Amino acid sequence: MLFMKKSVLVLGMVALVASACSATSEDTTSTTAQPVATSAEPPATSEASDTDVVPATTAPPAELGAQPALDITLPDELRVTPSQAEGPYYPVTKPDDRDNNLLVVAGGEPTTLGTPLELSGLLLYDDGTPIVGATLEIWQVDAEGIYDHPGAPDTEDRDPAFQFYGEAVTGGDGVWTFLTLDPAVYEPRPRHIHMKVIVDGAEVLTTQIYFDGDPLLDADGLAASAGDDLTLLTTNTTAGTLSNGQEGLVALHLIVLGR
Ligand code: FE
Repeated sequence: MLFMKKSVLVLGMVALVASACSATSEDTTSTTAQPVATSAEPPATSEASDTDVVPATTAPPAELGAQPALDITLPDELRVTPSQAEGPYYPVTKPDDRDNNLLVVAGGEPTTLGTPLELSGLLLYDDGTPIVGATLEIWQVDAEGIYDHPGAPDTEDRDPAFQFYGEAVTGGDGVWTFLTLDPAVYEPRPRHIHMKVIVDGAEVLTTQIYFDGDPLLDADGLAASAGDDLTLLTTNTTAGTLSNGQEGLVALHLIVLGR
C-alpha cells in the first residue's frame, strides 16, 4: 500500500460541495482545490437508449447554470475497499434500462417516492492511479425497502418507477456517479447500496456502501465483517441539489482497489 500526498481533485460535475467521504474524514485536510482537467469520457453506456444518463465528468446541463465544484479530498493513505457479501438479491434479469440514473426508467415518469440521492466518487488503485473505463454496478431497495427480485419479500409491491439496478462507467479521473434513492431500511439490515466493480471485463470487487450514523450498523454482522475497515464502507450524505435539479441528498464515496 502506497502513501499518497494529500491532494484534491476538483471535478466540474455536479452541484455538490461535500465533505470527503467518511472513510477519510478523520485524516484529511480540507484545502482549496486547484482545478484538474478532466477528460470527458462518455457517460455510462448501455443498451438503453434513453436520455436520462448522468454524465460522469462533463459539466451539468446548461439549464442548471454554473455549479459549484465537487471536492474530493484524498486521504494520506489509500486503503483498499473491503469486500462484502453479494447478498441474495443481485438481479436475476438486469433491466433493459440499466444506466446510472435509477430515478427514472426509460419511457416512464421519474419515481415520486423517497429521497433522491446523488452518489458520486472516484475509483482508484491504491497507488492513486485512476481507473478509467471500469463499470460500477449498483442494486438496492426502493423507498419502501423492497428489492426487484423474485425471491425478495413483497417484490410485487415494489415501486415500478424505480430502476433498482444501474451501471456507471468511470471517466478520465476515475469519476463515477449515480442518481438513485436514499435506500430505505429493511430490518434488520442498515441502509445500504450493493456494488460490484468490473475492470477489463473481470469482476474485481463486490461490496456494499453504508451510511454514517446508521443506528443499525453496530448490530449488523455483514458490516461488522469489515472490522476496522468499516469506515471505508460508510458514506456521509448532506442535503443538496442534484445534477438533475432535484433537491435531495448528495454523497461522495471513494472506492480503492489493490494493484
Ligand atoms: Fe441488501
